[in-house]
Amino acid sequence: MLNKTLTEQSQALAKGEVSSLELTQAYIQRINQLEPQVNAFISQTPEQALAQAKAADERRAKGDAHALTGIPLAHKDIFCTQGVRTSCGSKMLDNFIAPYNATVIERFNAVGAVSLGKTNLDEFAMGSSTESSFYGPTRNPWQLDRVPGGSSGGAAAAIAANFAAGATGTDTGGSIRQPAAFCGISGIKPTYGRVSRWGMIAYGSSLDQGGPMAKSCSDLALMLEVMASFDAKDSTSVDQPVPAYSQGLTQSIKGLRIGLPKEYFGEGLDPRIADQVQAAVKTLETQGAIIKEISLPLTHLAIPAYYIIAPAEASTNLSRYDGVKFGHRCDNPKDLQDLYLRTRQQGFGTEVKRRILIGTYALSAGYYDAYYRKAQQLRRMIKNDFAAALQEVDVIAGPATPNLPWTLGAKSQDPVAMYLEDLYTIAVNLAGLPGMSVPCGFVDGLPVGLQLIGNYFQEQQLLTLGHQYQLQSDWHLQQPELSTSGGN
Ligand code: GLN
Repeated sequence: MLNKTLTEQSQALAKGEVSSLELTQAYIQRINQLEPQVNAFISQTPEQALAQAKAADERRAKGDAHALTGIPLAHKDIFCTQGVRTSCGSKMLDNFIAPYNATVIERFNAVGAVSLGKTNLDEFAMGSSTESSFYGPTRNPWQLDRVPGGSSGGAAAAIAANFAAGATGTDTGGSIRQPAAFCGISGIKPTYGRVSRWGMIAYGSSLDQGGPMAKSCSDLALMLEVMASFDAKDSTSVDQPVPAYSQGLTQSIKGLRIGLPKEYFGEGLDPRIADQVQAAVKTLETQGAIIKEISLPLTHLAIPAYYIIAPAEASTNLSRYDGVKFGHRCDNPKDLQDLYLRTRQQGFGTEVKRRILIGTYALSAGYYDAYYRKAQQLRRMIKNDFAAALQEVDVIAGPATPNLPWTLGAKSQDPVAMYLEDLYTIAVNLAGLPGMSVPCGFVDGLPVGLQLIGNYFQEQQLLTLGHQYQLQSDWHLQQPELSTSGGN
């Protein structure tokens, strides 16, 4: 049952073929056996999961079940969970027990989903490999010496390793789509404002967006129906009705116009990835989609703009970790200055410190116009680029990543090389558009992702397109072989 999709598990629960308690126990057993090889979790909550599973079975017996009632999920350790440590992958929050639930968690609780625990991530979601976590790196279940991507690498690895049926992630510059691609699963970053950010620890507030990760697009649709909502507690939440995504998956894709940006297939892309993506696009074409080449001329400026804006926002967001209110606090501070300095020196890792420095510099009075304002101007131009392209086509398709998952440690000493890995995902956050990655093949035994980018609030179109593709392909159903003996 654990190798089934969330959708199939939901059907099996509805038919009484399995109980949530059985399913949850099976996941806990598998996690116990294989988690030491993968390190997908920061915290596991098996007792809570079993209690939720029992409650879910009782709810179902009363005839009051939702599609996700009793489904075992895992949550990125960036979503506050009441009574459970919420670390954000940082020593700074190693001792932080959240006193409340994020809206996303509340919504899953309300439908009776089960939570198996909190998944690993790059510290404060800054990274593309999950290697900057205070809790050690997560390993890619397809090849254990490879990174799973990041920052939601724990979530992606958990799905690929069959440690959970679905997982939550967040995406500031690619953190749902890139690990989904690296681990051979599906993941969608919704339109900015679609999913509440309340209780989701802030990194770059104007870019951060939560979304679901799972095996199939049908699974994503079921999860997004629950995650997406208007939330008065998040001032950037958008008050638009949430479509019944799972009901719309069978719509025809005939006549849908798909644009391939020529800049996404140029220099920097591994040609073997290009081949897989082109083959996937061909499949969509045979299903009736109309393919045309388009241009997103400012693609090369997305990473430079992002690495001013995201650190600027991070530097202000992370100023709250001062040793006074919550989180790590240094021993015996001499005075207030010493408290701030040593708390932050001890609590933050190298990458987080680097970003705070860049952000503070870019926002300082002397450099604001040269860097921050310029980056914001670029952001607007990049958004306009997409707007123009989306006049010509309905959906933009391309690779999710330029390269295959790299070996652990290979890029740790070279932050810029790591930043460049987000070439195709970052602009989507700058524009606030929805983007999705679905498995579209393998190169050397490692998964490859097809990225689909849509217009604002057109998540349905992406999910439908992805679902139709998954009816014609089985990449998303492939499973890595993890053995209990410790090998790959
Ligand atoms: N890799 C990008 C960064 O390091 C994006 C991370 C994310 O989406 N959270 O900022």
